[in-house]
Amino acid sequence: MIASISIYPEEWYKSVHELFRSALIDYQIFFTPQEQADIFLDLAIIIKEEEVCFQGKLQDAARKTLNQKVQFHTFKDEAKEHKNELSRLLRIFVFEWMCEFLGRSFSEYGILSGVRPLKILHRCLDQHWRRDDILSYLKENFRVSSEKAAFLLEVAENNHFLLHSPEEAKRKIGIYVGIPYCPTRCYYCSFPGAILHQYEQEIPPFLEALQREISGIGDYLQAHDYLIQNVYIGGGTPTVLNEKDLLLLLRMIRENLNLSHCQEITIEAGRPDTLNTQKFYLMKENHVDRICINPQTMNNATLERIGRRHTAEQIEEMVIKAREIGIEEINMDLIVGLMGESDKEYQQTLKRVLALQPTNITLHSLAVKRGSVLAEKEGLRTISGQAEEIVAAMKKMSAALRQQGYIPYYLYRQKYMKANMENTGYTLPGKQCLYNVQMMEERQTILGLGGGASSKFVFPENWTLTSFHNPKDPKSYTEHVERCIQGKLDNLKAFL
Ligand code: SF4
Repeated sequence: MIASISIYPEEWYKSVHELFRSALIDYQIFFTPQEQADIFLDLAIIIKEEEVCFQGKLQDAARKTLNQKVQFHTFKDEAKEHKNELSRLLRIFVFEWMCEFLGRSFSEYGILSGVRPLKILHRCLDQHWRRDDILSYLKENFRVSSEKAAFLLEVAENNHFLLHSPEEAKRKIGIYVGIPYCPTRCYYCSFPGAILHQYEQEIPPFLEALQREISGIGDYLQAHDYLIQNVYIGGGTPTVLNEKDLLLLLRMIRENLNLSHCQEITIEAGRPDTLNTQKFYLMKENHVDRICINPQTMNNATLERIGRRHTAEQIEEMVIKAREIGIEEINMDLIVGLMGESDKEYQQTLKRVLALQPTNITLHSLAVKRGSVLAEKEGLRTISGQAEEIVAAMKKMSAALRQQGYIPYYLYRQKYMKANMENTGYTLPGKQCLYNVQMMEERQTILGLGGGASSKFVFPENWTLTSFHNPKDPKSYTEHVERCIQGKLDNLKAFL
């Protein structure tokens, strides 16, 4: 089915298009006129002096019905100029309009459509709001459901104590090192890095550039007394590096960065087919204390379907090996919503993963990312029945994790999530990954080194930030590494 939506003035499109998209999942949505559409929606925002009027008109061509909704708001002078408040009111108007059209609520998140919904809660916790006031605020101002509001507050409370004070945030930073290569491309991934084809031609020049960047940034950090709190080596799949190069990478990090205050070093060892005993020893000897071994599913047929060249048994073997060698903290990522899977497969996956007793489990709800094979084959749309099944499965798995003592401690949302849910990191008490919290809550400057790495520079005065991105393509990164170093140094200097 097709929905043709027109918004006047167009500048308000940004505020509401995500809401329309998640409400009308059974429709292909066009924001340009479509004569053959099944439904036509017109939204007008008319601002006059101290009053704003929202007008919605919805024509259902098949049912030959016309639904109109009009709402007025009066502004005090200062609020009239406040675009954010206007946007919030408009989103509430659209949310309620769409709920009326569908005859049900389409999102427990109400009008919150951003990646980091917890930021609002952290601002309330900073000011020591009472729990009940935070919950009411979420419900009344953002139309978040009671159940979701309680969940968001629980997660925020489970990580708020890890966030820096403004004073700490001036000095404590995190480091992300990006190795943008993978052995194959997973079906659902829009990862813009590279599939590693010619190891000897590609890896040495990349590592040489990375060495320049790490040492250039490391010198500056030491000279200006920055304290590195955490290091995360991600990708891609950093463990595509052979033993010699993995050692080279770990040494260049240790030798060029002052890690005397570092509380955690994590490696994304996503694919078990890139791991072996020797690599675990190298990690252990070089103070890596957390690794991520990510099955996504423990169903071999699905693993093959999503383009991963490993089995569930290899996952089990590698987790056991890592433990034998002394790496205790292990995160395992799972995805709910992979094609061909339903409750039976989810339960089997969870059972096998829980048997391995990882310290952390991240529960993802499948997102159809632009540029992924999944999006090419299935399009960006989803169907409502599938979304309901995913919501039910996520809730069931979350309950099972809690029963085993895991608590939710960070979360984020993505565009085009199949079920309008969230991705949630669960941890055994005291085993939170600091990097994940800092990266999600954006209260710490994180310097991204390497291919596709993003840096965020946080201004603690008001918790705003600026970003700087290294090129995603490894070849381009290698060629432009000096610019990558300078860009970060310029941003760091803005702090002084
Ligand atoms: S291993 Fe991760 S980064 Fe690599 S293709 Fe798969 S999902 Fe993408």
